[in-house]
Amino acid sequence: MPEIIWKGNEHTNKESRYGVVPICIVDHISTSTMYSMDSWFTDPKNDGSSAHFGVGKDGMIHQYVKIEDNAWAQGLPVAKIPLSPAPIVRDMNCNPNLYCVSIEHEGTDGELTEEQFKATVWLHRYIMQYINDKWNPGMDLGSYNVLGHYQVDPWRRPNCPGPKFPWDRLRAELAVAEKQTLEELELRLWPAETGWADRLERIQAVNNELNWYMEEVAQGEGVGYANGCMDRYMALYEFMNNQGFLPKK
Ligand SMILES: [Zn+2]
Repeated sequence: MPEIIWKGNEHTNKESRYGVVPICIVDHISTSTMYSMDSWFTDPKNDGSSAHFGVGKDGMIHQYVKIEDNAWAQGLPVAKIPLSPAPIVRDMNCNPNLYCVSIEHEGTDGELTEEQFKATVWLHRYIMQYINDKWNPGMDLGSYNVLGHYQVDPWRRPNCPGPKFPWDRLRAELAVAEKQTLEELELRLWPAETGWADRLERIQAVNNELNWYMEEVAQGEGVGYANGCMDRYMALYEFMNNQGFLPKK
């Protein structure tokens, strides 16, 4: 599962959100490599742009600005705010940087690698969790709250995040992801790497055996079956506990 690597420095452009709660995720294309993104967002000569996150073609996630702060990624001239095609931009009626969290994607035309796609799905869900845990605005990952830059600013950024950005697939994934926990999502996105598929298979096997014992007991079989049932129950409990399925005490 992805790890978020902090890359911001004292030169990274950022400002306070001035009390505005983040409620929107905006997807961008970097039109550059991760390396040049890392350099530009930390360059003392850059006094015009930044982003919260960058997602590389290899699935790496870099962070430049804290979610608590506003990054300079999708500002809009005041006169354009009521004309934006995005309903949330008109509803919020203030500088979009104040309530948006920005995700840059390494690339040029919006086409994402498979690892990059999975990482950005995870990152959207992570941001939703972070915001809801911290400010509790009840944010979800529907089309009101997740936008392309072109929807915020079609005048200056009609091609961000690019013609090949996988909107249909991303929206379908986010509709599932917003109803899953992060752990469930990780299991779905990286079943092999996390080993979750193996763990679930073993739990299912123990659980099936447990059910068989319980049926036997229910049908009036003797104390031997009841003991077997308890043994299997304890084995299942211990296994789940060791695998981190149960809440920590
Ligand atoms: Zn953009």
